[in-house]
Amino acid sequence: MSQLEIRNLHVSVEDKEILKGVTLTVKQGEIHAIMGPNGTGKSTLAYTLMGHPAYTVTEGEVIFKGQNILELEPDERARLGIFLAFQYPVAIPGVTVANFLRSAMNARRRAENPEDKGIPIPEFRKMLKEKMDLLKMDHSFAGRYLNDGFSGGEKKRAEILQLATLQPEIAILDETDSGLDIDALRIVAEGVNALMGPHLGVLLITHYQRLLNYVKPDFVHVMLDGRIVESGGPDLALHLEEHGYHWLREKAEENA
Ligand code: ADP
Ligand code: MG
Repeated sequence: MSQLEIRNLHVSVEDKEILKGVTLTVKQGEIHAIMGPNGTGKSTLAYTLMGHPAYTVTEGEVIFKGQNILELEPDERARLGIFLAFQYPVAIPGVTVANFLRSAMNARRRAENPEDKGIPIPEFRKMLKEKMDLLKMDHSFAGRYLNDGFSGGEKKRAEILQLATLQPEIAILDETDSGLDIDALRIVAEGVNALMGPHLGVLLITHYQRLLNYVKPDFVHVMLDGRIVESGGPDLALHLEEHGYHWLREKAEENA
């Protein structure tokens, strides 16, 4: 059983400290939601885990399969079994969703076995169709050029299909503001629900409580000012819906 262990992570952007010591472990089979008001560092955490160069780690480590992944390139992290949403946010005209997914899959297979010749095309097509059926996607989607003119919802679909085909151990999904209509939310939620099982661990970052109406997290964490100030079960999300974040700010100030 693999787990992603974030240990005392401090991150700065342009010399300003944004994350001030985040500690969190996500195991396969668990869904962890991170919630919190805007500007508290949620996306900073996601970008740091992805290896975005604008985010400087000043302290702490992130351990996965015995390695500090902060020392690895983003593609090495992916090959190790960590799925990072928005890894390929750019449009790639001329590359279809199917071609892209097959290359990504083959890269992962080759990381496990350098002799691997890649997945045979008929086998890949069969697998892709099964995944698209599981996610209730139209098969024509696989023939579209990746992210070329995709709506917010279609980008999410591509992302979830990528998640389904790559079968990572840990997936980190950040619900950034882009394309966040209710459809996009539902696509992510239904995708996560369809793919969830003992082999997948999910770190779901969201400021939209609504998402948690569709996905049931095992753990809910609240981030305020670069720290996780409260953790609990699904009840915590309901409590936040009713009472907001104010009580947590007061509590955090008392502890400061
Ligand atoms: P959240 O996702 O919780 O809304 P962010 O992680 O996006 O919060 O932002 C946390 C803080 O870090 C904000 O004050 C934001 O302005 C700052 N920040 C994040 N990314 C950048 C960046 N690339 N350049 C400058 N400031 C940034
Ligand atoms: Mg954000």
